[in-house]
Formats: sequence, structure tokens, C-alpha cells
Amino acid sequence: MTETQDIKIQSITRFYILLLLKSKNRLTGYKIINRLKEDLGTTASPTSIYDFLKTLKEKGYIEDIQKKKAGRVKGIKLTSAGDEFIDKIFSRFNNLIEAAVESKLKICASCGVKLYDNYYTEVVDGKEMNFCCIHCAKAYKNSNIEH
Ligand SMILES: [Zn+2]
Repeated sequence: MTETQDIKIQSITRFYILLLLKSKNRLTGYKIINRLKEDLGTTASPTSIYDFLKTLKEKGYIEDIQKKKAGRVKGIKLTSAGDEFIDKIFSRFNNLIEAAVESKLKICASCGVKLYDNYYTEVVDGKEMNFCCIHCAKAYKNSNIEH
């Protein structure tokens, strides 16, 4: 445990490589490059992909699958540490995506319910406000007058 800093996953290419590794298919660098090309249409440079794989290997997140006889490299696979690392990355992404969705969601100004496609908008005190329904708008206006 000399290095504690995690690898940065700042591109969709890297993220997709992790997905591929997690899918437990037998992979090689070559296969990964092909999948990236086929699935994402990316033309990520093989060098950057091999560099990333090398970094993952140095971290102990992936390891070579050796061929039984000749000792030739048959492919790469995820180690249990790599599996944990990817789970961590994925949950971080989940949180990010949830936060992004949350921030775009409108809520009813009266009852606080989340509003999706259908909601009711009314201008209250010169301010456009969103409500789930006309009744909530009415309730909101009434409570505003009371206060
Ligand atoms: Zn409401």
C-alpha cells in the first residue's frame, strides 16, 4: 500500500474499458480496442489504451492470464482488488448521475413532490412557480396570503 491515490477515470473510453473488464469477458488489449471502435465509435489511440491497461496492471487491478503450456499471455482479467476498484468508480458515477438528474428536476413549490413532464406553472407575486397541480398552486397562494 505505497500508493493510495486512485486512477482518474476522466474519459468515457476509460470508463468503458472498466465496463468491459467488469463484464468478465476474456479480454486482450486488441479486443478492447475493437470493442471501443465498434460500440462507441471512438478512435482512441491504442497507445493510450495500452497505457491505461499498464497503469491498471501496476495498481494490481488486472493481471495477465497465462497460457497453460507456453506461458504466453492469453489475455487480461480483473483481480479482486480491481473488481472493488471498479465498483467504487461505478458507485461514484451513479451518485454523479443522480445528482445531475436531481438538479434538473423541478419540485412542486407547495408540496415538494418531484415534477416530471406534466406540471402546472403559475406566476405568483411576479415569480413563475411550478406546482404538481392547480390545487397545490391554490393551496400555496392561500398559505402565502395567511403569512
Ligand atoms: Zn404539489
